[in-house]
Amino acid sequence: MASSASCIFCKIIKGEIPSFKLIETKLTYSFLDIQPTAEAHVLVIPKYHGAKLHNIPDEYLSDILPVVKKLTHVLKLDTNNTPDGQGYNVLQNNGRIAHQVVDHVHFHLIPKRDAETGLIVGWPAQETDFAKLGKLHESLKKELEQVENEKL
Ligand code: AMP
Ligand code: ZN
Repeated sequence: MASSASCIFCKIIKGEIPSFKLIETKLTYSFLDIQPTAEAHVLVIPKYHGAKLHNIPDEYLSDILPVVKKLTHVLKLDTNNTPDGQGYNVLQNNGRIAHQVVDHVHFHLIPKRDAETGLIVGWPAQETDFAKLGKLHESLKKELEQVENEKL
């Protein structure tokens, strides 16, 4: 397991500093956020030190979402199967500009019960421009081909 001696979340995993632990598996650890944006704001982290999502091996990432799902049950966020009423957000920030403060990958599970608490999002959607999207799609498909070839 990759670990960093100076990382606060690595210290939490090792029990060197306390946390309000919830679900723990071989590869994943989860606990209450101590500065919650809503009651029962939870963090779910891989037991592998890496700052950004692309730094984490797939086996750790594969373990995380089922834990997040189980936590929606623990927090009773899975009782509403309609679009209206209580919901929740799953958030994972990468880099300071993207609001990441702790440089150990973490998924926030944030109950959204009302407009005032939980995640509040700015969403600067642009006008749909099919020509621009088409060009971008072509260049990304070339990138994809290269990435697929790299695997060989
Ligand atoms: P981010 O902005 O995505 O990096 O979020 C980091 C989160 O970690 C914040 O919501 C903090 O409140 C939370 N946090 C920082 N230190 C601790 C800690 N010792 N225990 C629990 N949560 C923490
Ligand atoms: Zn760490």
